[in-house]
Amino acid sequence: MSTAGIHSKVQEVKDLTRIERIGAHSHIRGLGLDDSLEPRKISQGMVGQLRARKSAGIILTMIREGKIAGRAILIGGQPGTGKTAIAMGMAKSLGEETPFTMLAGSEIFSLEMSKTEALTQAFRKSIGVRIREEAEIIEGEVVEIEIDKSVSSGAKTGKITLKTTEMETVYDLGQKMIEAIQKEKIVAGDIITIDKASGKISKLGRSFSRSSDYDNVGPQTRFVQCPEGELQKRKEVVHTVTLHEIDVINSRTQGFLALFAGDIGEIKPEVREQIDQKVAEWREEGRAEIVPGVLFIDEVHMLDIECFSFLNRALESDQAPVVIMATNRGITKIRGTEYLSPHGLPIDLLDRALIITTDPYNQKEIQQILEIRCQEEDVEITEDAMSLLTKIGKESSLRYGIHLITASNLVAIKRKSHEVDVQDIRKVYSLFVDIKRSVQFLKDFEKEFMF
Ligand code: ATP
Repeated sequence: MSTAGIHSKVQEVKDLTRIERIGAHSHIRGLGLDDSLEPRKISQGMVGQLRARKSAGIILTMIREGKIAGRAILIGGQPGTGKTAIAMGMAKSLGEETPFTMLAGSEIFSLEMSKTEALTQAFRKSIGVRIREEAEIIEGEVVEIEIDKSVSSGAKTGKITLKTTEMETVYDLGQKMIEAIQKEKIVAGDIITIDKASGKISKLGRSFSRSSDYDNVGPQTRFVQCPEGELQKRKEVVHTVTLHEIDVINSRTQGFLALFAGDIGEIKPEVREQIDQKVAEWREEGRAEIVPGVLFIDEVHMLDIECFSFLNRALESDQAPVVIMATNRGITKIRGTEYLSPHGLPIDLLDRALIITTDPYNQKEIQQILEIRCQEEDVEITEDAMSLLTKIGKESSLRYGIHLITASNLVAIKRKSHEVDVQDIRKVYSLFVDIKRSVQFLKDFEKEFMF
């Protein structure tokens, strides 16, 4: 296999792990706190873990007030106790445009780039830049649309005539605009806006002047006063990108396409310096501001001493994202050294961290989480099957219980049932072993596995 092949495999595996990790938390929509930061028992997809959620809420307030600089958060607790879920909840509460990056400690030891490059990229993926731009918007009533479909290349061309009370103007249509017109079913008599820079077309409603249309339109149609006077207006458009996206776009000949291909590689420090300078200029001119995001490092004990000193330094920066680390280890060796330390983290980093701990779930909480996951995955389940699944979740692990939902639903569908029943759970339980049974299997057949 060529090295390119190996690289793409590594990338694929990584992407799959990431999708799995994010998908598993799709039900989390926030921390589920009320206005006075008290956790509701079940809210926004969150169940129990009240103390940890409350602490996370207080940290959120500190983040919002800009009082978190130079500090990190460490969530410690047994596997499957919601450490990642809480980090997700924090990111969601910070708002849609807050960048959230997830990284597993082991992921940075990759074939593709150095450890510090991987960490730098993770940091820059977690720093947003809100950029303001002025766009020219044209608003008017559609008089006529002509789309020429006869072009042999398959591409369509067209023209649109727009009028206000004062004048009519004809505009050429780009391919995207044509698609928007067809998708939104824009016809003569509609009031629309066109963003001249991006070509974005939006439908505002129908014109009052087309009174004959009253009989022909459905109840959804909104009638809008035909715009008067000015045909063009200026509007401020705001969009948020991450520093990493700006890095990638500027570092390669293929520009932003590399973002989709995932083939990014190392980025030269000079490129980053230039970008930092440019962003600083925009900030001074009032055209941009920094949106600090959240960088979540799972299995943080897998990082080594070099990475920890990088983290310590990176946290000093005034535009550092909020770093949330999670670990399920107690006292263990700091990787790359012979020293034992709590959670395998050096004392100076621990000293900067606000520490939150999570507790194991009781049976009722496990059932509530499993029920939420069933709803999230659109899976109907009988009461008995849910009791069995809860028992499995308690005795094996919550995560194993969650995995069985998807699989047992497929088994139910196969026997043409729309509801998961006890037999489906039993079947998948016998097909997929949990960790305990897997370990037992290895012990029982130890000899066969030796060479
Ligand atoms: P690990 O140490 O193995 O990384 P973890 O502590 O990060 O585990 P999660 O991955 O957050 O555990 O939890 C396992 C699953 O249970 C996820 O699907 C998560 O969304 C869900 N979950 C955990 N705790 C809660 C909770 N309090 N409310 C709702 N869902 C939860």
